Amino acid sequence: MMQWSLKRQSSWVQLAGHQGNFQLSEGGDVLKRYSEGEAMCLDNLMKDPLRPFVPQYFGLVTRGEHCYIRLEDLLSGLRRPVIMDCKMGVRTYQEDELLKARTKATLRSDMYQKMVKVDPSALSAEEHAQKGVSKWRYLQWRDMTSSTSTLGFRIEGIMMEDGSIQRDFRKILTLAQVTEALLYFTRSQMNILKAYHSRLIALSDALKISPFFRSHEVIGSSLLFVHDHSTKASVWMIDFGKTTPVPDTSELQHNIPWAEGSREDGYLIGLTSLITSLSQAINM
Ligand code: ATP
Ligand code: MG
Ligand code: MG
Repeated sequence: MMQWSLKRQSSWVQLAGHQGNFQLSEGGDVLKRYSEGEAMCLDNLMKDPLRPFVPQYFGLVTRGEHCYIRLEDLLSGLRRPVIMDCKMGVRTYQEDELLKARTKATLRSDMYQKMVKVDPSALSAEEHAQKGVSKWRYLQWRDMTSSTSTLGFRIEGIMMEDGSIQRDFRKILTLAQVTEALLYFTRSQMNILKAYHSRLIALSDALKISPFFRSHEVIGSSLLFVHDHSTKASVWMIDFGKTTPVPDTSELQHNIPWAEGSREDGYLIGLTSLITSLSQAINM
């Protein structure tokens, strides 16, 4: 462990996901536990117009008994970075997860407990009796009670320059509340707000011409906002663990609501919300 911390070049921090899924490599890169789907997406993205918006992908490495994907550390070179993870899209579950819930639902007591803690009245008498819910039920509840289903994204976590982390943004439901959160996150620094705004405009241009985007259902992926005390501020697409190709014959629009079977993810609904909110913050 000591070895890792001595060689650490950056102030690596993880805002979402299981802590055990990540390691920092000797060279200062980020190692994320391998999944075939994510590795395939990253391979694809390195040849796509989206490449400048994705951390560099360096292939696979093995550490102990596990395989990892090796990624550029987006925090490298930043001092006391300020970070925000926004999970994109109008839903965070795959259509497969819904099908599983209908056919052979595994009941999750941990997810039931999380729901009880926040709002016991959200659960039916049957769910209370079972003391368990399907993963899909839990994910859908989180989508419906956050800005995911209405604004097409939600804030998963924010870390401020003092290292403090906030993860509960359930109460952010309107665009005005997002704008308030963005002003807090950037401490209303105009140059940073403007840098984020123009980066998102550039991203939206790249998405329009991206073969990858056209042909993939992007679920549970995030935009990672990163800045520090200097004027450096950037946004990156991360987390392709639940991003899957659609059949050759179909293309996704990403800007319309989801209907079962359509595989639409509403990614662009979220991006538009974020851009609108940043514009509001800049003009306040
Ligand atoms: P979940 O599916 O629960 O969102 P996950 O296990 O798929 O999590 P990611 O979302 O890919 O993991 O990453 C979790 C966190 O790790 C991010 O919120 C971010 O803080 C950090 N992170 C991931 N990739 C990088 C990177 N390349 N550089 C810097 N930080 C990263
Ligand atoms: Mg994630
Ligand atoms: Mg993930």
